Amino acid sequence: MGDVIEMLAAGLPAEALVTDPEVMASYARDMASFSAVGEPLAVVTPRTVEDVQHVMRTATAARVPVVPQGARTGLSGGANAVDGCIVLSLRKMDRIVEIDPVDRIAVVEPGVVNAVLSRAVAEQGLYYPPDPSSWEQCTIGGNIGTGAGGLCCVKYGVTAEYVLGLDVVLVDGRLLSTGRRTAKGVAGYDLTRLFVGSEGTLGVVVKAVVALRPAPPQQLALVAEFPSTAAACAAVCAIMEGGHVPSLLELMDATTIRAVNAMAQMGLPESTEALLLAAFDTPDPAADLAALGELCTAAGATDVVPAQDAAESELLLQARRLSLTALERISTATMIDDVCVPRGRLGEMLDGVAAIAAEYDLTIGVCAHAGDGNTHPVVCFDAHDPDESRRARESFDAIMALGLELGGTITGEHGVGLLKRDWLAQELGPTGLELQRGIKAVFDPLGLLNPGKVF
Ligand SMILES: Cc1cc2nc3c(=O)[nH]c(=O)nc-3n(C[C@H](O)[C@H](O)[C@H](O)COP(=O)(O)OP(=O)(O)OC[C@H]3O[C@@H](n4cnc5c(N)ncnc54)[C@H](O)[C@@H]3O)c2cc1C
Repeated sequence: MGDVIEMLAAGLPAEALVTDPEVMASYARDMASFSAVGEPLAVVTPRTVEDVQHVMRTATAARVPVVPQGARTGLSGGANAVDGCIVLSLRKMDRIVEIDPVDRIAVVEPGVVNAVLSRAVAEQGLYYPPDPSSWEQCTIGGNIGTGAGGLCCVKYGVTAEYVLGLDVVLVDGRLLSTGRRTAKGVAGYDLTRLFVGSEGTLGVVVKAVVALRPAPPQQLALVAEFPSTAAACAAVCAIMEGGHVPSLLELMDATTIRAVNAMAQMGLPESTEALLLAAFDTPDPAADLAALGELCTAAGATDVVPAQDAAESELLLQARRLSLTALERISTATMIDDVCVPRGRLGEMLDGVAAIAAEYDLTIGVCAHAGDGNTHPVVCFDAHDPDESRRARESFDAIMALGLELGGTITGEHGVGLLKRDWLAQELGPTGLELQRGIKAVFDPLGLLNPGKVF
């Protein structure tokens, strides 16, 4: 293996190659529990496309696996090192190359942090909508790798809808340009879309052309309290059926509310079973919120409180963004599900999760991108207790089974990674799985790119 290190060193700046075991250990994993973590042979932190090409040529020549990484905020084990791999951390490729207000695009390197891009385009009156709650840390490359969603997707859609073109270094070091920077384009198969959500298993994204929108008016939010999650879910259905287009429609259950208060003293009402947060970024958000509030009341809301101004709205959003982190603090470990169901089945999903929590005798808090039907049941458990850990894993699986039963998917936005690999076959079926494996073999015939992930 010394040979591989020498081969890597021959084409890289010294500071881009890390072999110190302690430093390498800090690159070993993302934020998922219950996912195998291997020991890397080396970590490379490239700054140029040529650096990445050199790594891939070396890996192919020496038959060494490569694990691409962004900020490692992933929740499925997708960025975890495998034994003897080269970890390829793209974080230092973090330039915003171009912002073009005429074509309404940005051209970025993969290590650009989501919030940094959002703020940079906002300075020019533009908007990059995909906004995972981890937006202050996660990278555009990682967002493309997982096909990330976020809070505003209920109105604006997910990452896949904003990626127009990509530069990708293939496993043998060739550079592939896919897609376009034009408003339209249908030349050939849509390889750009194929790479979105491919979790580093098909190639390494080194540049992306992303679509922007004109910045919408400042959004205004409200919070509605419900005596049950079922009533909150009924309100979600009424809102969507009524033709409303909120810029955000999020749910927090009682466990989540208490966890957020405990972590950040947000003063959220603790006597309630569920909160819905909704927002509009329309020309008259107050009027739209009033109409939405009436639907909440009709569905059983006990209180509906509109934010007074943008600052108060932002505080409500902040409470929702903190939810996963806050739930992670109430036990020594968590497993975060990501099941997305048709909106009409959301109530059944949440009732089912409550039943699973009771059956396995565990605390499972739920926050959800409710307007998308995308739930995040967070299984809280004591990692030092083997029996509780076993029950946690089983309940995590039971939640995915329930999601599939309700016509949903095992992952709405976090990806399959290692955690949900066994469930992918059930969702895709044998023909779907065979074709997807065939696609993987075209791009990565030696199985070197992020091996063991997804399939
Ligand atoms: C508190 C918290 C809140 C979160 N909220 C959300 C949310 O609201 N919505 C959501 O969708 N996710 C959310 N996530 C999950 C996570 O932030 C996203 O999956 C994010 O897209 C991961 O980005 P990253 O830069 O950390 O990528 P990583 O975790 O480093 O990698 C993710 C995947 O992409 C691949 N990859 C990374 N870079 C590249 C590249 N350049 N080329 C090819 N493949 C690459 C990796 O191999 C891996 O498979 C949350 C996570 C946390 C911790």
